Amino acid sequence: MAQETKNSILIIGGGLLGLSIAYEFSRNNFKVLVLSKNRNESAGFVAAGMLATHAEGLEDELLKFGQESQNLIPKWIKSIEQDSNIKCGLKKCGIVVPFKNKEDLEEFPTYEYGKYLNHKDLQTEINGMNSIWKHGLLFEQDGQIDNRRRLMRALERACSLHGVEFQEGSEVEDLTFEKNKITGATVLCATGEIKKINCEKAIICSGAWSKKIFNKIPVFPVKGQMLSIQGPTNFLKRVIFGPKTYLVGNTPNGIKQLQEGIRSLLPEAINWPQMEHWWGFRPCTPDLKPIIGKSKIENLFIATGHYRNGVLFSAITSDLLLKIVQNKNLKEIEKSFLEKFSLDRFAI
Ligand SMILES: Cc1cc2nc3c(=O)[nH]c(=O)nc-3n(C[C@H](O)[C@H](O)[C@H](O)COP(=O)(O)OP(=O)(O)OC[C@H]3O[C@@H](n4cnc5c(N)ncnc54)[C@H](O)[C@@H]3O)c2cc1C
Repeated sequence: MAQETKNSILIIGGGLLGLSIAYEFSRNNFKVLVLSKNRNESAGFVAAGMLATHAEGLEDELLKFGQESQNLIPKWIKSIEQDSNIKCGLKKCGIVVPFKNKEDLEEFPTYEYGKYLNHKDLQTEINGMNSIWKHGLLFEQDGQIDNRRRLMRALERACSLHGVEFQEGSEVEDLTFEKNKITGATVLCATGEIKKINCEKAIICSGAWSKKIFNKIPVFPVKGQMLSIQGPTNFLKRVIFGPKTYLVGNTPNGIKQLQEGIRSLLPEAINWPQMEHWWGFRPCTPDLKPIIGKSKIENLFIATGHYRNGVLFSAITSDLLLKIVQNKNLKEIEKSFLEKFSLDRFAI
């Protein structure tokens, strides 16, 4: 019987975006190779997993992008859970944003999407909330996912089951081009060996390190830190999203700043025993928006710069990438995202 020839794609970076995209392509019959420098440094293993389109106060196209992604997430997660047999801990738990005065609350960009909470309501929603917070907005449509312990692993397993090949410990040092096409990559392997890998098409999703691979990508790292404290079981039913700190379910987020943030939101939590402290690098762009889509190189695509919202944006980003690579017809809103998030907006 003749062997089916699959289209193949090279994915550079095995973090949250790399895995999400690998999953999308592999379940759509692509032969996928993921080159991953170090899975443990991926921000995907660090993130708090908030799906905070409204609580983040996103605006304009970022708000629409977050809303569209949040619409896709339940179906996307269901598929990952079915394929991997791992529950991803998706919770539509709602996020509370506290304010000290009404003016700040009314000026909040997503004010119209929230439910107003007065001082008493705030105390009811968050038992023990610091009384300096007089008002709040509850965004019931926002939630969280357990990316750190579950989603990343579920994606890895689902990818493997769909035949994705992973080369862990493989750092792409250089890309090779011929006549405006990428032909392959030079890779430093964990063994110290340097090898060449050929490709038909490639996607750069190397997070905060993307500029090192392709210097036209103006991404830079922004450190983010998390602190895990052991509170009473199910104490926090909602995520609390404060100005500099947020508290997330049973796995909340230098240390001193985090502790001050915790004290300012929920004073009694400062006495809860500390368990773990970790950090990672968010891929940030000069205008804080992601870079998604084609590059000027015909067969080279980009998905990076997701900054504070990579977990939230991964469902829509992987969906869009597949459509672009397959040259599918796009909806008007999808075209507008690609225009707004194109690499071309940075004239380098
Ligand atoms: C503390 C913290 C909290 C966060 N909380 C949230 C949140 O609550 N909600 C949310 O939506 N987002 C959150 N984020 C943001 C989110 O984690 C990121 O936007 C997302 O992980 C970015 O995914 P990525 O795949 O682009 O990068 P990463 O997940 O960092 O993956 C990049 C991968 O590329 C690999 N790589 C780099 N260079 C090379 C190379 N040369 N060759 C091969 N591989 C390479 C790296 O080893 C890495 O594994 C948070 C981030 C941090 C740091």
